Amino acid sequence: MTALSDSFQRPINYLRISVTDRCNLRCIYCMPEEGLPLASHQEILSFEEIRAVVRAAAPLGINRLRLTGGEPLVRAGFLDLVRMLAEVKGVEDLSLTTNGILLLQYAARLKAAGLHRVNVSLDSLRSDRFHRMTRLGELENVLAGIEEAKRVGLNPVKINNVVVRGVNDDELLDFARKTIEDGWHVRFIELMPFGEGLEGACEHGEGEEKFISVREIVQRLAMLGDLEATRTSNGSGPAKYFRYPGAVGTVGFISPVSEHFCFGCNRLRLTADGRLRPCLLDDREIDLREALRRGASAGELRRLIEQAVAAKPKRHRLSEGARSRRHMAQIGG
Ligand code: SAM
Ligand code: SF4
Repeated sequence: MTALSDSFQRPINYLRISVTDRCNLRCIYCMPEEGLPLASHQEILSFEEIRAVVRAAAPLGINRLRLTGGEPLVRAGFLDLVRMLAEVKGVEDLSLTTNGILLLQYAARLKAAGLHRVNVSLDSLRSDRFHRMTRLGELENVLAGIEEAKRVGLNPVKINNVVVRGVNDDELLDFARKTIEDGWHVRFIELMPFGEGLEGACEHGEGEEKFISVREIVQRLAMLGDLEATRTSNGSGPAKYFRYPGAVGTVGFISPVSEHFCFGCNRLRLTADGRLRPCLLDDREIDLREALRRGASAGELRRLIEQAVAAKPKRHRLSEGARSRRHMAQIGG
């Protein structure tokens, strides 16, 4: 195995794979109510194509995979994909990001198929608000899914919470308490001005009012006690982790907007329609689908992956107003 690193000496070992652009929810900051124009079945990569990319990437040192979307659990046959990727030599960490709606039904089979762990997105612990924020979801399904994921050993189960001022920021302490009382691992994420983010509000200026920086979140969490810095077993991503004294669970912070974490970026992204994206917030992409469909060899795929790594920008340009033309659900977050 060779270790990949980009032009800024950042080691690259992580691939996020969007397996579908479809979703069973319509979160207010991610999708418009009517949904997004969807790629056809032919346009999205088949499971065999995704595996071919992973087989080419693993010998280059890409040993950590995250399956995301859209909602990965709505893709037909998803368990087969998990099984196929878990068997690829060199894959050491295989994880999933899900909205949790279907997790109760799938958790045990995901574990049996070879999935290691799961992150669940959950922005509210109040049923009515959860329904409003997701437009379609029932909170009890997600809570049951989280418990089932823990029970079957998809650990650590991490909860991703996007904080939106005036919408769910009054629940910061409720989520923080869960790390003390129920051992949850909660990560607070800054709202990104993306695609339909808050139905375009961000692009019209209102997004700034909805945005809360990690700095402010940390200040507000101090009400519950002093947060001590800690490390987690899977902590090579952008989050910084802390713990309240005596708590089993952890509090993590992800600040893509206020303090970009690009200096430690270790990732590439594969979109559902087969484009390799060197950076979440940069629309330069490499078309792997075209290469796969004309029968590119593993060697050629490897060269394209190396090209994507070489094209990774030093940092994103959000603060200078750069925006992606893609939606979060198409790239996978
Ligand atoms: N459907 C799955 C889910 O919700 O976990 C996976 C895909 S979703 C696009 C991945 C992550 O992106 C979720 O944690 C979601 O909260 C986050 N996300 C989506 N839009 C966002 C935005 N505008 N700002 C910050 N995070 C966002
Ligand atoms: Fe679907 Fe996830 Fe986007 Fe919510 S954040 S609409 S669950 S893809």
